[in-house]
Amino acid sequence: MNKKGHVLNAILLAIGLGYVLQPSGDVETFVTIVELFVPLVLGALFPDVDTAFGKHRKTLHSLPVLGIIIAYPVYFGNLQFVWIGVATHYLLDVVGSKRGIALFYPLSSTEYGLPIGVTTSSKWADTFTVAITLGELAALAAVQFFVVDLNTGTPREATAAVLASIPV
Ligand SMILES: [Zn+2]
Repeated sequence: MNKKGHVLNAILLAIGLGYVLQPSGDVETFVTIVELFVPLVLGALFPDVDTAFGKHRKTLHSLPVLGIIIAYPVYFGNLQFVWIGVATHYLLDVVGSKRGIALFYPLSSTEYGLPIGVTTSSKWADTFTVAITLGELAALAAVQFFVVDLNTGTPREATAAVLASIPV
């Protein structure tokens, strides 16, 4: 996926997720969209920094990197929501291209992609990006309502019960 596709995806995701997190549809929703906008766009652009540093589609396109970005809000209390931008970048690169990305780099250089991928030059690229975004919003809404409050990172009751039942 190219920069335009990643930014389009992040902008649509910020708007949709704004309504998921703050469904009132008033000024609170608008403020939430503004809050999400920059972190999501920054996150969505971050992985392709590896076109200049490291190996493209490997160095910053791996699950260990996503883990580090998720750790920032948990341990440092900053960079909230940036991980969603990074995660959606990976997803678009996996399903939106035939080449794929090295999810387990540096452990493995194997690139994972979908052979049905729609290339960025295709006239269907934007339609495809919007369709993926809608799927992501449905998944994020399910997480928000049933698993964890994305605003606070606090597990929902049912999830908390499951976590509490795991013997540590
Ligand atoms: Zn990429």
